Amino acid sequence: MRLYNTLSRQKEDFQPIDASHVRMYVCGPTVYDFAHIGNARPIIVFDVLNRLLRHLYGQSAVTYVRNITDVDDKINARAAERGISIRELTEETARIFHEDVAALGCLKPDVEPRATEHIVEMIAIIEKLIAAGHAYAAEGHVLFSVPSMGDYGQLSRRPLDEMIAGARVDVAAYKRDEMDFVLWKPSKESEPGWDSPWGRGRPGWHIECSAMSWKHLGETFDIHGGGIDLVFPHHENEIAQSRCAFGAKVMANVWMHNGFLQVEGEKMSKSLGNFITIRQLLATEDFGDQKWAGDVLRLAMLRTHYRQPIDWTARGLDEAQKTLENWADLVARHKIASATPTPHASVVEALLDDLNTAAAFAALAELAKASRHDYSAAQNLANTALWLGFDTSAWFARAGDAAGDNLDPAFKAQVESLVAARLEARAQKNFAESDRLRDELAAMGVQLKDGKGANGEAVTTWEVKR
Ligand code: AMP
Ligand code: ZN
Repeated sequence: MRLYNTLSRQKEDFQPIDASHVRMYVCGPTVYDFAHIGNARPIIVFDVLNRLLRHLYGQSAVTYVRNITDVDDKINARAAERGISIRELTEETARIFHEDVAALGCLKPDVEPRATEHIVEMIAIIEKLIAAGHAYAAEGHVLFSVPSMGDYGQLSRRPLDEMIAGARVDVAAYKRDEMDFVLWKPSKESEPGWDSPWGRGRPGWHIECSAMSWKHLGETFDIHGGGIDLVFPHHENEIAQSRCAFGAKVMANVWMHNGFLQVEGEKMSKSLGNFITIRQLLATEDFGDQKWAGDVLRLAMLRTHYRQPIDWTARGLDEAQKTLENWADLVARHKIASATPTPHASVVEALLDDLNTAAAFAALAELAKASRHDYSAAQNLANTALWLGFDTSAWFARAGDAAGDNLDPAFKAQVESLVAARLEARAQKNFAESDRLRDELAAMGVQLKDGKGANGEAVTTWEVKR
């Protein structure tokens, strides 16, 4: 497998540190509000990578960790605004997030650590950093000393002045250098806080991920992922903390970042009023006057390669829906009623090239084309779609309908006798009668397909059109 590594700015052969235990960390949501469709992108993209890693290295050979950030100033502010407790807000938001991403066909990560449950590890890392001269305490704060790290900035490779401008958001007298960033800060009585060697306080955002990945994956692991906006400062600072605390050359070997999603050609933002949540798309009629199945959103997301920007449009969703309809039809036509989650080789091959889902769907389109006349291609299509996280159960139910399995037996017997009578009429070249029978069946909602059997004999299949 080849993966584009943001650290080296090139595609590299993927070599796990330990092929019997592949380890991946992805930055998860800060739980204060509904996740928007942009937030869904890293969840869906890294879900596909998780599935691919398991296919390559074994179901139980992968540990996928995706955290929940449940301590953050945005959370405090929102809880106060709504007049509920922080706990209520984070629990409610996490529950909604879980429902949303399940509807999008994403598997659960193996571990879903919460920041508030890893304060001990955060304090331990901060103490290591202070002891090694990479951090200092000042006025109840602890700051990471950026100049103490000779090769700070390798991930984002930003020019120094840009990094300073980025860090300047919180200028403070207690900072020794403009670029130093917060590891720990004091909490007021009304704010959540934990006892620490520096007084009652709470962690900075970056230290949370260093602590959770350390606890669950170790000092150095294989893959770290997230959206492109996290490269600086979040991931740059995670790297600084973890490498300096553990004296490690790298924190993670491969750094992967998905591109951004925009809506109908515009940046998605609350102020533009084009901010759209997963829930709205799933449950209401807010986008293109239509409610969308989770599968449609998943396909629309994955049709673009993960590093490219996506323009999220109602038209794109329409197209994804038509594609899924077509697959369901093909599978039903062959009366395929079950599948095993295994990917077709052509799809695996596409994904091995830096998770090229766009090429994977082109390969699926080829399978779909072959499925028109080929039962085994249709079975492969179903198997691969199921493996990719699409909900094929409705397809199989439709296959059951097409086969008449779910119909009233008396109705089915009547249809079958009419179909047989029509075949008989055709064999006798009594086309007036065969057309009349076709119309009679159509009036019953039954659609016929005439074809040939294995020995060239006339065969008619039928299905009930809803
Ligand atoms: P946040 O809650 O802002 O920390 O974002 C959670 C995840 O969603 C991060 O991995 C972000 O990079 C990602 N993300 C946020 N907005 C977008 C967007 N418009 N397109 C793609 N990814 C996004
Ligand atoms: Zn993170």
